Amino acid sequence: MVAVKEILLQVLIACSPAFLFPLIFERCRPYPVQNAGPERNSYYNILLCSCLISILICSTFSTYLFGIIPLNYFLPSLFIGMLYGRLRDGLILAAVQLIIYILITPFKGIGFLLDTGLVLYPMVLLSSGRFKRGGRQAKLITLSFFLLVGQYLSTSLSFLTWPLSHKMDLTVILFGIVNIAVAVVIGGLLLVVIESSLDKERLQMQVTQLSRRYFREAEKLQQMMDAAPVSILLLDQQGRIVSVNDTFLNFYRTEHPEAVKEELVGRMLNETLKGLDIEIFGARAERTLRNRETTSELVQVGERMFYTSTSPIKRGHTDETFGAVIIIQDITELETLRTELGNVERLSLVGQMAAGITHEIRNPMAVVRGFLQLMKEKSPPSLDHYYRIVMDELDRANGIINDFLSLAQSRSVNKEECQLHDIIHELSPLLWADANLRGQSIELKLAPYLPTLPLNNKEIKQVILNLSRNAMEAMEDKGQLTLETRNIPGGVELRVTDTGPGIPPAKQEKLFQPFFTTKAQGTGLGLALCLSIIERHNGKISVESDEGRGTTFSVKFMKPLGHNAGDA
Ligand code: ADP
Ligand code: MG
Repeated sequence: MVAVKEILLQVLIACSPAFLFPLIFERCRPYPVQNAGPERNSYYNILLCSCLISILICSTFSTYLFGIIPLNYFLPSLFIGMLYGRLRDGLILAAVQLIIYILITPFKGIGFLLDTGLVLYPMVLLSSGRFKRGGRQAKLITLSFFLLVGQYLSTSLSFLTWPLSHKMDLTVILFGIVNIAVAVVIGGLLLVVIESSLDKERLQMQVTQLSRRYFREAEKLQQMMDAAPVSILLLDQQGRIVSVNDTFLNFYRTEHPEAVKEELVGRMLNETLKGLDIEIFGARAERTLRNRETTSELVQVGERMFYTSTSPIKRGHTDETFGAVIIIQDITELETLRTELGNVERLSLVGQMAAGITHEIRNPMAVVRGFLQLMKEKSPPSLDHYYRIVMDELDRANGIINDFLSLAQSRSVNKEECQLHDIIHELSPLLWADANLRGQSIELKLAPYLPTLPLNNKEIKQVILNLSRNAMEAMEDKGQLTLETRNIPGGVELRVTDTGPGIPPAKQEKLFQPFFTTKAQGTGLGLALCLSIIERHNGKISVESDEGRGTTFSVKFMKPLGHNAGDA
C-alpha cells in the first residue's frame, strides 16, 4: 500500500510538466515553427523550466521501493526536454540531473552510469533533430524506447546489487516491471500534452493567418470597388445596406454632405434613398431580392440618365441568395455625346450636299463666263470696262466657291511642312470679301520670321476661317479684325482679335462644346471643330475676352521635338 502511494506521488510530480507546459505556453502564445526569434526562444524556455521543475521535485521526493528499486521518475521529463529542446537545454537538464544525483545518492560506481541513464544521454541528444522532424507516432516510439531502456537499466541495477541472502520476491519483481511501465506511460502522456499544445498553437496560427488574409482580400476588394467609376451597393436579404463604394458616397453627398460610409451601412436602402432623385432604385433592388434575378435597365431621372444593373448574390453555385449588388452608372454625359454625334453626322451630310451643289454651280458659271468673253469681243470697246467688272466678280465668286469646297471636303490628316503666313495669304481674299460686305476691316500683324510647321493646309484654313467668321459675326460695322502671328518658345502663336462685345466668363467655359451657340442661325460647331483640328496638330487654343472691348482667340502650335525650323 505504501509502495502504491509513493508511486502515485512520484507519478503526480513527474506529470507536472503536463500541467505546467500548456498553462504557460498558452499564456505566452509562442510558436516554434514561426521563425520569429523571441517567440521561438520563449517556447524553449518554457519547456526547459517545466522539465527542470519536474526533475528537481522528482529527485527531492525520490525513495527506494522495498529499499531496493529506485523510485524517481525524472527520466520522462529529462528525455522530453532533451528531445524537444535545443542542445543547450538538453545539456543543462542533464547536468542538473547529474549534480542532484551526486548530491543525494552515495556514489555507486557503475550505478552512476545506469541509475541516471547517463549512457543514453548522447544517443538521446543526437536523435533530437530527427525526433523533432518526425510524426507524432515516430516521436512516441522513440521516446518510449529510450524510457524503456533507461528505466530498465536503473531498475535492473538494483536487482544486481540485491544481497544474495535475500530471496527473489515476486512482488518486488512485479513492482520493478510496474516501475518501468509507469515511466513509459508518463513519457507518453507528456508527449501527447506537448503535441496537442503545439497542434493548438499551429491551428491558431493558421486561423490568424487566414483571417489576416481574409482582411487583406476584403480590403483589396473594397479598394477595387472604390476605384470603380460606378456606384456599387451591396445589400443583404432584407434590403439593408452592407457596403457602398466611394463613388456612391460622393453621389449621395451631393444631397447629404455630411454622410459617412459607416452611417449608411445597416440602413434600409429604401429609407436611405427616400426623397432623393434615385429613390426608384430602392424599389428595383427590392424586386431583385424578391425575384432573385438579374435586371439591368436604363432609367431616366429628371435630366439625368442612369444605367443600373441589379443582381442577386448567390452562395456558391446554389440557388440560395443572401443579398444583392446594385451597380448604378450615370451615363448622362455618354447619352449627350451620343445625340451630339448623331447631330454631327447629320450636319456632315448636309455639308457634303452643300459641297455637291456648290460644285454644280461652278459649271453654269463657267459657261456664263465663256459667253461673256465672247460677247466682250463682239461689243464696242467702250463696254470693256463693264465686262471686266462682271468677269472679276465672277472670278471672285468662283474663288470663294473653291475655298468652300476645299473646306467641305473630307478632312485628311496628312500634314506637310507649311508656312502659316502662306495659309493666311491664301485665305485673305476670302476674308476681305466677307469683311467688305459687313463694312469691317482686317489688319494683318505678321511676325517677320516664322518657322515652318507640319500642318494640314485645309484644316488650318478652316480654323482661321471659323475664328475670323466668329469675330466678324460678333462685331458691328467698322469693327476691326486683327490676325497676328508671333514666335513663342518652342512654337508659333496665331492670335485672332476682334473689337466685338466680348464673351462673359460663364459662356467662355462652354465655347468649345459642340452645338453651343448664341446665334439664331448658328450651328455651334465652329469652335468645336477648331478645337479638334488644333488638338490633332498638338496645338492649344485658348480665349481671352474683355467684355465690351473685344475677344482674342489664341492658337499655339508647338514644333515637334527634333524639328528644324524652316525659313520665313
Ligand atoms: P456658331 O458660330 O455657329 O454659333 P461657334 O462654335 O463658332 O458656333 O461659336 C460658338 C459661340 O461662341 C457663338 O455662338 C458665340 O456666342 C461665341 N463666340 C465665338 N466667337 C466669338 C467672338 N469672337 N466674340 C463673341 N462671341 C463669340
Ligand atoms: Mg462660328
